[in-house]
Amino acid sequence: MSRLEEYGMQRDSVLTKILVVDDRVENIRSMRRLLEAVDAEVYSALSGVEALGLLLRHQFSLILLDVMMPEMDGFETAELIRGDLRSQQIPIVFVTAADKEESVEFKGYDVGAVDYLYKPIQEHILLSKVRFFLEMARHKSLLEQSLQELKQLRNHNEVLLNSTAEGIVSLDASGHITFANPAAQQLLSYSGEAMLGLDFACIQSLDGARTAFEQSALYQACQGQRHIQDDQQYFYRPDGSHFPVAFTASPLPVEGAELPGMVLVFQDISQHKDTADRLAYLAQYDALTGVANRSLFSKLLGQAIARAERHQQNLALLFLDLDRFKAVNDTLGHQAGDLLLQQVAQRLQACIRDGDTLSRLGGDEFTVILEEVGDSREAAVVAHKLVEALTEPFIIKDQEVFIGTSIGIALYPDSARGAESLLKCADMAMYQAKAQGRNNFQYFTPEMQQRAVQALNLEQRLRYALERDEFVLHYQPQVNISSGAIIGLEALIRWRPDGQTLIPPGDFIPLAEETGLIIPIGEWVLRHACAQVQSWHQTGLLGPEVSVSVNLSVRQLEKRSLLDVLTTVLEETGLKPSQLELEITESAVMKDPEVAVELLRSISERGIQISLDDFGTGYSSLSYLKMLPLDVLKIDRSFVNDIGGNPSDDAVLETIIALSKNLNLRVVAEGVETQRQLQFLQRLDCSSIQGYFISEPKSTDEIEALLWRIKEGHSSDLLTPDKPAGLIVLPWQEAASH
Ligand code: C2E
Ligand code: CA
Ligand code: CA
Repeated sequence: MSRLEEYGMQRDSVLTKILVVDDRVENIRSMRRLLEAVDAEVYSALSGVEALGLLLRHQFSLILLDVMMPEMDGFETAELIRGDLRSQQIPIVFVTAADKEESVEFKGYDVGAVDYLYKPIQEHILLSKVRFFLEMARHKSLLEQSLQELKQLRNHNEVLLNSTAEGIVSLDASGHITFANPAAQQLLSYSGEAMLGLDFACIQSLDGARTAFEQSALYQACQGQRHIQDDQQYFYRPDGSHFPVAFTASPLPVEGAELPGMVLVFQDISQHKDTADRLAYLAQYDALTGVANRSLFSKLLGQAIARAERHQQNLALLFLDLDRFKAVNDTLGHQAGDLLLQQVAQRLQACIRDGDTLSRLGGDEFTVILEEVGDSREAAVVAHKLVEALTEPFIIKDQEVFIGTSIGIALYPDSARGAESLLKCADMAMYQAKAQGRNNFQYFTPEMQQRAVQALNLEQRLRYALERDEFVLHYQPQVNISSGAIIGLEALIRWRPDGQTLIPPGDFIPLAEETGLIIPIGEWVLRHACAQVQSWHQTGLLGPEVSVSVNLSVRQLEKRSLLDVLTTVLEETGLKPSQLELEITESAVMKDPEVAVELLRSISERGIQISLDDFGTGYSSLSYLKMLPLDVLKIDRSFVNDIGGNPSDDAVLETIIALSKNLNLRVVAEGVETQRQLQFLQRLDCSSIQGYFISEPKSTDEIEALLWRIKEGHSSDLLTPDKPAGLIVLPWQEAASH
């Protein structure tokens, strides 16, 4: 099937109608016969009136109209047909018997005839004319349809252009506005006319600089006939106000112009941007204090270092950690803690210059970046100011709160060159400041670095120490001052990493506490000390009244699981609770008094003895002594050391001893090294002593040997009242002198 035939078939389905008007039936009949050759439905009318009637009901593509008809002739009929809007456009072919007479023809054309056919009708002329007109009609209807569609499309586009909230403008190649939809006019605050022909440079920048516009990505993209998207620009209104926009710009071919223009679709994104800005702000600033957070701090420090490097300048990084913040948080609550942090941030901010950056890294840690510092002294001035600022009391919930801060200072480029290492250096220096007694500042030194490396090393080795059984216990006897008898042994831990070197507890206990390793280590000490002393009880080397003292760390006092551990250990070893004494310090109790006191009560209720270690070095508030279920008070060796040095110190010692008697506490004086000290304590009626004068802490084997000597009668007592103090010779000293 050819294309044309296909076309024809389609056309048939649209049912083309032809109207034949003739007053004579035989004419109509012959015409119908002839028209069978065309694909059309043929209607007929015997008069003009009938024809008009049919025209009302059908849409015809062609009318074959007999001119000579009675009543109303063809011309009249044609005139009426033309007079009606619906049928006005239908082509009319007059069929006339008359010879070609110009007058008739003209008359026909006047009323809108399109063509003539002459009787007798020649078939091929009729058919070719009819086909031609039908084809015309077909084209016309297609055209009409397209026009209709086009009109609809235009309406549709217009609706879109007018109703959309997005601004749409088109520009010519030089960047002048050729079209702007209502939204564009409204967003940019221009009237429609004012926008037409306007240079877009005026919208893209405040000063409407042409060169700037021509360099803009928007213009360039259009010249390069590329499509671009951007949401980082601002558009300006005639009053100078501006708003952030997101736009897409596409090249728009302009008829007759060599270069394309562009069509720009844009949106006001201020609201969206507000949220985005807010989110970006939240991601960079600390919600509580409003100062930069850790993430922004890292970025700013990196930038500050880059600047310092470029300009060959020094930079100081201050690392602050609040002193006693945890205590405030724990006693007054988190809300109070938050209020405190806010006030701290305000005070710190007030101490620094505009260009310096204060950040909160989290918790009670703050940093300050000081740029363009001439020398280290400048940083010290600021650090001093910050320390002073936080020394003043804070008022939180109508309460005066005292805190302080320890500051570490690291300098670029002296301490380190990279942001991360600079922060580490400042952090190390801060720890040093804490160790120096808090509320002060320290510069980073290379030795700190060394120490930090050592600490890390130590921590790793400490982790394996338990597994590898590298700890040992030494024992130091406690002696009754009047009878000289051993009343207790204090277990003191040592670390022997290589089987030789003995590392004293002072070198690793703090780290074990910091890392939490003290929990398993403390348990190990407890188990071994109890087992050892119980075995001495069993072999009769120790009388049942002799107890073992085990030191407890803060961390152990924080956990209720301590009770279970104690129960298990006593069960496992068979040691009586009264034969175990736990040594705690005031500071350990004060860390979290409520928990500690409750735990100690439960421990005491089980019959385990509790002694307060290092008494006199901490809070030494005598009133709170009553709160604690104590059995023993150990006077710190600093008091014993000072004996005879200062009369008022001696008076303090005397008071402590008298007071403990009132409270029904046994007193152990620690660190007794000389006979003078011993005599003095004897005079004050101190019940027992511990110290190098009697014995240093000794290994298990050494203690066992000593206990055997005593048992075998070399000496039943370490001290005997009948011997004058000056003549006291201790059995193992005696042995050594032989
Ligand atoms: P501490 O509880 O006050 O133990 C007494 C410390 O004083 C011991 O030091 C002891 O050797 C020392 N000492 C005893 N008599 C004298 C003397 O006459 N003069 C002098 N100058 N010092 C004397 P050590 O063994 O180095 O222990 C130090 C600290 O380590 C202990 O102080 C204790 O706080 C802690 N510690 C020791 N063992 C343990 C343990 O198993 N667990 C825990 N948590 N801490 C322990
Ligand atoms: Ca102790
Ligand atoms: Ca002590």
